[in-house]
Amino acid sequence: MIAKLVIIGSGPAGLTAAIYAARAKLHPIVITGFQWGGQLMLTTVVENFPGFIEGLMGPQLMDQMRKQAERFGAEFIDDDVSKVELTNGTKKVHVGDKVIESHAIILATGASAQWLGLESEKKLIGRGVSSCATCDAFFFKDKEVVVIGGGDSAMEDSLYLTKFASKVTIIHRRDKLKASKIMQDRAFANPKISFIWNSAVIDVLGKDKLEGVVIQNVADGKTSTIQCQGMFVAIGHKPNTDFVKGQIELDHKGYVVRKKWSQTHVEGVFVAGDVHDYRYKQAITAAGYGCEAALDAEKYLEAKGIE
Ligand code: NDP
Repeated sequence: MIAKLVIIGSGPAGLTAAIYAARAKLHPIVITGFQWGGQLMLTTVVENFPGFIEGLMGPQLMDQMRKQAERFGAEFIDDDVSKVELTNGTKKVHVGDKVIESHAIILATGASAQWLGLESEKKLIGRGVSSCATCDAFFFKDKEVVVIGGGDSAMEDSLYLTKFASKVTIIHRRDKLKASKIMQDRAFANPKISFIWNSAVIDVLGKDKLEGVVIQNVADGKTSTIQCQGMFVAIGHKPNTDFVKGQIELDHKGYVVRKKWSQTHVEGVFVAGDVHDYRYKQAITAAGYGCEAALDAEKYLEAKGIE
């Protein structure tokens, strides 16, 4: 049997698409990925998702969205997609040893954290080097940590880390932050947070666990060493599009390019959330894009006469 709609990804975009598509009786199959729920599974309190006066935990929000989609009949497969075949006709999605055929696809695979790209950094991931403060901050009780980056993520991670670490130093490559004013103000006001400006991390020290980082001033080239037990990298994200490379139009950073609304350049393939949105990257915008993609997929299937 050919499915009407397969949704790949299970963050706010994928799950909102699933809710809308299931209510429209498209019987969507959601391939969640091994780590279902997307980036919100790695956050603590979400304060800016409308409707929750006191905020709620990221994983709780995702759990509720998933149950809401299930209530309307969405089917979930908790596995990774190994390969897709995105032709203009019937599309094929490979999951484990199964091949699912579908008339339409929504790509909602989000984006993953970026790393600095140093060999020494790679060796110490999980041994003091992390990209997820909310997951790992607990392990740095009364320790000194550095956070790399100047955006909202770096500020948010730093603020969260102050609940555990004795000292948090933000290392940023410029002399101005990119973060929103409110997050900047919170970071500047926190006595546990200090800043090192105009500096890049050029080496990560330690054999079995992190002992420090070497930084270089971008203006005068001078290097210095900072002792620390934790390094949190918060320098942005990379879209999860490797599995569709060569089959769909991507921009120079790898984000999916939309042709019109949520429609991609391949007929019947729609896109939603951070996998195409490098600008807003919010849970609520991802959810909005998920809604849009489901409505567009519904119209597409209807126009094709696929019941
Ligand atoms: P951003 O792209 O906004 O910021 C990335 C930061 O990392 C920038 O300061 C950038 O420097 C720096 N950077 C990038 N590459 C490197 C590198 N190779 N070496 C050193 N530094 C580097 O990403 P974020 O993840 O912070 O935020 C993404 C989006 O999510 C934003 O829209 C943000 O507003 C949103 N967000 C909102 C939150 C909230 O409201 N609570 C929390 C977290 C994220 P430079 O400034 O020089 O470009």
